[in-house]
Amino acid sequence: MKNLINELKSNKLKLSLFLVILLLIIYLVVILIIIYNKKQEIKLVRQDIEIKRIESKKMIDKLLEIKINEKKQFEEQEELRIKKEQEQKELEEKNQKINNNEANTSNTKNTLNYSVNEENTVFDPVSDNSIKKFVTSNKSFNDKKYVPSGLVKISSDYVYDSKWWSQVLRSVANEALQSMAKSFFEETWEKIEVVSAYRSYAYQKWIKAGWCSDKFCAKAWYSEHQTGLAMDLWSATSNSTWKNSEKLQKYYKWLDENAHKYGFHNTYQKWLKIDWYEIEPWHWRYVWVDLATNLRNNNMTLAQYYN
Ligand SMILES: [Zn+2]
Repeated sequence: MKNLINELKSNKLKLSLFLVILLLIIYLVVILIIIYNKKQEIKLVRQDIEIKRIESKKMIDKLLEIKINEKKQFEEQEELRIKKEQEQKELEEKNQKINNNEANTSNTKNTLNYSVNEENTVFDPVSDNSIKKFVTSNKSFNDKKYVPSGLVKISSDYVYDSKWWSQVLRSVANEALQSMAKSFFEETWEKIEVVSAYRSYAYQKWIKAGWCSDKFCAKAWYSEHQTGLAMDLWSATSNSTWKNSEKLQKYYKWLDENAHKYGFHNTYQKWLKIDWYEIEPWHWRYVWVDLATNLRNNNMTLAQYYN
């Protein structure tokens, strides 16, 4: 009996122990489940935070892009505004220059009047010193060695090569050239370039001896260049060269429309029997404003006028 009681006690103890262990295991499992759940929760929260972070970064980038675009647009508008202001300024300056030039032209005309009176220049086609001296292939100077008075150097702004000694003109023609070149530049943004102006008897003789034919170059003693009133512009080559050059045609058109206002006449433009010179669009001679205008209005050359 005692043994039985002892055995029962022992079994009860074992059962109790078993129950305690089981409880402990259940407790541990529950704890583990709770920990696992918490971890999962934390993971989800982290993921959520990460998603929000990415979204907010995207938003910031978008905002930044909008700001950059706005800045760009502002800069473009500003650039356009500055450009417009500059254009307006340039236009005003150009208008101012044109106005000044008109004033200068009338001043120059007065100065020219004065110079002509002062020089006591005669207007007859025979006198060597006359502004209207007429020379052609059969009409020479009276004095073979004639040298015009008052030769001045043309401004280096308007010559092809200022070191070349042939870049001189009579002062009256030089003043008119300066005035014309200024207008030409203001209207075309291009420069008038004199390649040859006054040529002495000796110099013309030297040219003729070298290479220049009668159709193209006057004999020494018969050249308009000896008057100190004639000049060749840009390219004294051939009429066909001028015809085929867009640039030279543009220059000629301007001269044809304006040169007479400054007293210049394109002497050889028709290939006339009177002088038999080839057409020379580059050869312009000072004849005084009244005669140049008269010739231009009547579509005449100097040779036609005197014959
Ligand atoms: Zn010439």
